[in-house]
Order: sequence, then C-alpha cells, then structure tokens
Amino acid sequence: MLAYRKIFLLILILSVLILALGWGFSILNTWLILLLILVNIAVLLAGSFYICSGLYMQALCSGNTDAKKVSITFDDGPDRIITPRVLDLLKQHNIKAGFFLMGKNIAGNEEIVKRMINEGHIIGNHSYSHVNFFGFFSAGKVKDELQKNETLIDKVTGKRVALFRPPFGLSNPNIARAARLLDYTVVGWSIRSLDTVSSNNDKTIKRVFRRLKPGGVILFHDNHERIIPILEEVINRTMEDGYDFVSPDVLLNVKAYRQ
Ligand SMILES: [Zn+2]
Repeated sequence: MLAYRKIFLLILILSVLILALGWGFSILNTWLILLLILVNIAVLLAGSFYICSGLYMQALCSGNTDAKKVSITFDDGPDRIITPRVLDLLKQHNIKAGFFLMGKNIAGNEEIVKRMINEGHIIGNHSYSHVNFFGFFSAGKVKDELQKNETLIDKVTGKRVALFRPPFGLSNPNIARAARLLDYTVVGWSIRSLDTVSSNNDKTIKRVFRRLKPGGVILFHDNHERIIPILEEVINRTMEDGYDFVSPDVLLNVKAYRQ
C-alpha cells in the first residue's frame, strides 16, 4: 500500500514550501519550524513501525482478490510445545499456513520444522535473533541475520526461503537494503491480531473479525498457549462465514523458495 508513502511525501513537500515561503516573508517563528520538523519525524517513525506503509520498502500485506480467501501466518516459532499443537489443529482442518521462523529457535526443534514442510505449510525468514534493538542494526548486520537463518532452514528442510517478515514488522532504510540485496520478498499482514499483547481471548478474536475481508493475511504467534483456543475459534467462525484458508504464497502470488 503506497497511500502512506504519498501522504508522507505530500507532508514533506508542503513543509518545505511553508518553510521556504515563511522564511522568505519572515512570517514563520522558530516554534512553527520546530513543529513542522517534529511532524515529519513522527511520520517517518510511524512509517517504520507500520510495515505496509511502503515508506522504506514494498511489503505484501494482502492478496488481490474479491474471493473469500484468507491466509494465516505465525511468527516467532518454532516452539517445542505450542507449534506441534498449532500444526495438529491446522491438520485437523486441512489448512495450509505460513510460519516465519526465528533462527535461534530452530536448534532442538528440527523435526517440527520438517513437519511444517511435510504437511504443506510454507516457511519464511523472521531473522535469526529477533532482538529488541533489531531496528538499530546496520544493513550488513541485518544481512548476516537473514543469511544465518536462511542457511539453518536450508540445512533442515533443503529449501532456501525467499520470503522475509522483519521482526516487529519494522522497516527502515537498513532493513530495506538488506532485504533488497538478498532478493527477499517482504511479507507483512493486513490483520494484526495482537494475540501476544492482549490477555483477553475474546478481544483478540473480535479484533480479527473486525478486520476480516477477502485477501486478508492474519498475523498470529505460535509461541504462547492462548493461541490454541483463539485459533480454533477463528478457524471455525471464518469457515462458517464462507471463507477458505489458502497458503500465503498462493494468496499473495509469490514464490516461497528460491529455485
Ligand atoms: Zn516476531
């Protein structure tokens, strides 16, 4: 979605015009200039936390379809206890989903990762460490993180992943550069469930259904217990609403792996 990018550029151009004209006619005071600069910084920051803003890089956030098709994606796994339960639930309903894996969680959970592939799910790169200060990494460090995880996944599955979802959905010039250099397709979401933020299952479920529409990509996390009842309810109600679940690579029309 490039609307955000257009709005940002419009604000920037207007600010420059106001500053230039204001300065020329000496009608702008320091506070107004500071306010304009602050507004621009706020818009830049918002753009880095809103992955679909398209401000720094193009991310695929929903499928281009009017058909009642949606995808489920999970971040931050694999988890030794929770991921197999999620996989059981998906298998029970014959749903293919996407798992954006954290490299540091793979050791010891190799069989779970293999199971994802064997059961028809797709895997994407969610960085190796997912550290809180990921947004401050240089492009080189982001590249190392992505390559380290890509190699680990390849060792376990024999597949080289081509999809990347940045930790925390962050985007900035360094993350964008690393993704571009490694030829990754960046994948976001259109339905952020906030399943790890709220502790109220009903609230999380309601949030998903408020945002549910054709082409939607749901973001869940497979590293916490609450996801099981939430996922069960979301699957059942979404199917009752006449929706089909399709694999994210199909919905977004992208290749999950390199040739
Ligand atoms: Zn994450």
